[in-house]
Amino acid sequence: ELGKVGDGLELPVFAIGGFARDLLLGGKNDDIDITVEGDGILFAETFAATHECRVKSHAKFGTAVIVLPDGFKIDVASTRLEFYETPGALPTVERSSLKMDLYRRDFTINTLAIQLNPANFGLLIDYFGAYRDLRDKVIRVLHNLSFVEDPTRVFRAVRFEQRLGFQIARHTDNLIRNAVKMGFLDKLGGRRLLNELVIILREREPVRAILRMESLGLLGFIHPDLTLETENLRVLDEVKKVVTWFELLYQRDQVETWVVYFLALTSLLADAAFFEMCTRLSVSEHYREKLIDMRVHGEQMLAVMERKVAGKKPVLRSNIYFWLRGLSPEVLLYIMAKTCRDEVRKFVSLYVTQLREVTCMLTGDDLKAIGLPPGPRYREILDAVLSARLNGEVSTREEESRFVKQ
Ligand code: ATP
Repeated sequence: ELGKVGDGLELPVFAIGGFARDLLLGGKNDDIDITVEGDGILFAETFAATHECRVKSHAKFGTAVIVLPDGFKIDVASTRLEFYETPGALPTVERSSLKMDLYRRDFTINTLAIQLNPANFGLLIDYFGAYRDLRDKVIRVLHNLSFVEDPTRVFRAVRFEQRLGFQIARHTDNLIRNAVKMGFLDKLGGRRLLNELVIILREREPVRAILRMESLGLLGFIHPDLTLETENLRVLDEVKKVVTWFELLYQRDQVETWVVYFLALTSLLADAAFFEMCTRLSVSEHYREKLIDMRVHGEQMLAVMERKVAGKKPVLRSNIYFWLRGLSPEVLLYIMAKTCRDEVRKFVSLYVTQLREVTCMLTGDDLKAIGLPPGPRYREILDAVLSARLNGEVSTREEESRFVKQ
């Protein structure tokens, strides 16, 4: 359908980038990127008008997003047309503009284009050896200045290498090491660095990518004190296990897994260094406070629970509930990963799987009905009822009422 609209406007249309790459690799990619040789906005608007879709255009960039009725999005870009005096040789001119467009990309494996116009449907256009590198499982830049031009590509290289199980080509590896040595990564803005880091931590196997970043000397650009030691590496490996466990159990609970990995990766940083790192990464003040809060509360509760376990005194279910109430799933998972004590891990898993759902049946209205004057005492009483319920001392509404009257 996209190709037909292209034909109607006499515009060559291509699927490019990650979509073409993943198609060849046999994987799936839900983002479709289209490049139109010519006016991509005209193309997107024509397509939308004839297919009951919405379209959002950005005239300044020559890009548009087509939104299908089911919400599916197609990104449309325009190649910059170059007008040469070459009458009768239009195809060469048009092709060269696609080629220029692809040349600006990060790695050869992202430079494939698949034509969508019906007459040439499926035609694979491969100017830079993408097919060969996909076959050989290699990440390779297109030219020597690639990382100088855009240092985020260093992190993108690691991400694709680990995600696809590829290998960064030797020369590309040397270019990265050189960019690191020459300090080009210092020029990378905090926002962009944070963005790349978050994307890496959202991958399925971030630990391998972190190890690779360490081996290329990239962690120091996040903060000079950030290193991989036996301890934070252990925690990172544990995060993988607990995140898998949690996602399996609670598919609908939203948990920002990157935050858990982030807390684990930076767990050995001193508070001051953590703060500096947030500044380097241009984390907003609001979010920085949130991260610091997670870190501090996580450590506090971890210490409390480890002390209790060492003390050998019995731990009640209500104790666990009130220690962990109010902590986000990210912090709970961080505690599970960080602790070396099985008992503490069991406390958190008991809380996550059972205790956090428990509520008492009595409400403030019931307390009012039995003549208690409203005030902060209500919270204390209801918490006491909840404790009794958690510890199995009451199980019905009547028992709860009797408990209050005592
Ligand atoms: P993913 O599956 O992670 O979305 P993707 O290849 O679609 O992979 P995007 O980050 O969405 O990755 O980028 C889309 C395309 O834009 C890429 O295929 C790449 O060619 C190009 N691109 C993105 N960032 C850069 C960059 N920093 N330098 C050059 N090209 C880039």
